[in-house]
Amino acid sequence: MALRNILKIGDPQLRKKSRPVTEFNERLHTLIDDMIETLVDANGLGIAAPQVGVLRRVVIVVNNDGEYLELVNPVIAAKSQETVGAYEGCLSVPDERGYVERPQKVIVKAQDRNGNAVTYNLEDMAARAACHETDHLDGTLFVDLTDQLFTEEQLEEMLSEENED
Ligand code: ZN
Repeated sequence: MALRNILKIGDPQLRKKSRPVTEFNERLHTLIDDMIETLVDANGLGIAAPQVGVLRRVVIVVNNDGEYLELVNPVIAAKSQETVGAYEGCLSVPDERGYVERPQKVIVKAQDRNGNAVTYNLEDMAARAACHETDHLDGTLFVDLTDQLFTEEQLEEMLSEENED
C-alpha cells in the first residue's frame, strides 16, 4: 500500500469524466487499498479515483459507522425528496467550504472489488459523501453547486455569530 498524491482544484484531471471499471484485477485492488490509505491519512469522509489521478469509476465512502465502503462503478439509484444543507468540503479544495443541499437518504448500487453487486442505503453524512464522490466521477466539484466559498475561519466566525442571536 502507498499514499497517493491528492490533486487540487485547477488540475484538469479533476474535470474529466472517469471510465467504468471492467477488470477486477490486482491493479484495481492496489488502487482501492491506496485510496483508503490516502483517505485515512487525510482524515476525510470520501475520496474518488480521479482525485488521485486515475480516471476510473471508483470511490471510497465512509459510512456513519466509520466503515470504508468500496464502491466500484457506483450509481445513485434513488434519492429521498428530503434534502439537508451543510457546509461541505473536499480534499481537492483545501481549507474552503460551501453550502450544498444534498438528499438526506440515498440508495447506492455499485460493485465491490471483485465485481459482485452491492447495494447500500446511506443517510446524512454518508449520503452526502456518496453524492459528492460520485459527482467527482463526472468532473463535478462541490464548488459548482454552491454560490460562495468560505474559509474555515470565516465559517467559524459566521456560526459563532449565529449562535449569539
Ligand atoms: Zn471531493
